[in-house]
Amino acid sequence: MNRNPMQGLCMLALAACLGLVRPLAAEEEMVCGTDDGLAAPLAKTAQIPKVSKIYSGKLKAMVIRIGFSDAPYAVDTAAIVKTNTAINTLYRSMSRNAFEWDWRIYGIILSAPGTRADYGANFSSLQSWIASQLTAAGLKRGTDYDVYVANFPLITIGWSGLSNLRDADWINGSYSAGVTGHELGHSLGLPHAHSIEAGPDMFGTPGTTTQTNEYGNPYDIMGHGGSTGHFNVLYKWRVGWEDADEIKEVTSSGTYRIYAQDNDAHKGRLLGLRVPSGDANYGYWFEYRAITPSARNGAAVMFQGFRTTANLDSWFLDTTPGSRASGDESDGVLAVGKQFQDKYGQTAFKTVAINNGTWTQDGYVDLQVTFPAAGTLPFARRSGIRLIRDSRGPAYDMLGRDAMGLASLPTLSLDQGKGSPHLVLNAR
Ligand SMILES: [Zn+2]
Repeated sequence: MNRNPMQGLCMLALAACLGLVRPLAAEEEMVCGTDDGLAAPLAKTAQIPKVSKIYSGKLKAMVIRIGFSDAPYAVDTAAIVKTNTAINTLYRSMSRNAFEWDWRIYGIILSAPGTRADYGANFSSLQSWIASQLTAAGLKRGTDYDVYVANFPLITIGWSGLSNLRDADWINGSYSAGVTGHELGHSLGLPHAHSIEAGPDMFGTPGTTTQTNEYGNPYDIMGHGGSTGHFNVLYKWRVGWEDADEIKEVTSSGTYRIYAQDNDAHKGRLLGLRVPSGDANYGYWFEYRAITPSARNGAAVMFQGFRTTANLDSWFLDTTPGSRASGDESDGVLAVGKQFQDKYGQTAFKTVAINNGTWTQDGYVDLQVTFPAAGTLPFARRSGIRLIRDSRGPAYDMLGRDAMGLASLPTLSLDQGKGSPHLVLNAR
């Protein structure tokens, strides 16, 4: 797997992102249950966000080539076409052939009057100049283009791509599929695919700004997944590229088979799960990917609600917390045999199997989701001595450590069977 540093940075034109620019690593060579019927019908859940907009058919993307007074435009047409083709390969696969970019290259190479240094120092002047040229040429949004992609000689400005989150993207220097495909994701309205890296705590504290990596999802082109990195299942949902029978919210215990989502298969199989947290402000999303070797080991876990509770960004959780020193999230998936518990509740998640060796659309992960049993006494977690054990629920030792599965551990249980409830010491 070639993981090359991308030639620069991407900046999202949001106030929240300014100043948070990070290097964007990319793989320029591509590479982004038993559904046992327990999942709730999507239409009846309030937790899965509404689809922002269904993108189908084509959107017109027009490449605008620009040279400067001291730097001619240097990307040849074959290279542009190659990049555009690679981008469409990804978008067609992500949308299961429902969407693609209708590429065109504006026939005239524009000559901007300033120099590299001028525009590096004052980029907005170049933006204004480009817009004025399009107007002067009679090019109209909606008619001639839906998004224009302005590409120009490399300037020193600290990013390689920029988007206005709508109809304009600017590509600084080389015209690569990783950067341009990423900016076009912004033009569909998508934010970055982040990660949480909070040291030994895999969850971090929502609302904080020092425990995250802006581009931290290692597999998503909106993170640092590069030119073949499919959007995560939440973002595919937001742009309308998944069906209601493919993304489900789970509120019942069971083992769910989640099929690999990073392909163009459209078979009505489960591709993503959302599980509500014990705190209704948050949720966990699960998916499986088969393309990238490090993703194959288990379920990718993504948190919803980290920035603000209403925020629909995706936050990849590194289930091997404390590994930030290694410099990436590539050991982050919930590998077979690993488990974790909702930070705000009792629900437990465990990867029990993958379709080992099948790294195709038929790859899958079996995710066991265990909700607290009905009748379990409500109690706060990790806030004191826990001596409650219900035979149907989790157990804790006197230090509050989760003792689930330690059958020989002495515990106290609440017997509600006969007469008034009473405590029973289980000292098997
Ligand atoms: Zn970006």
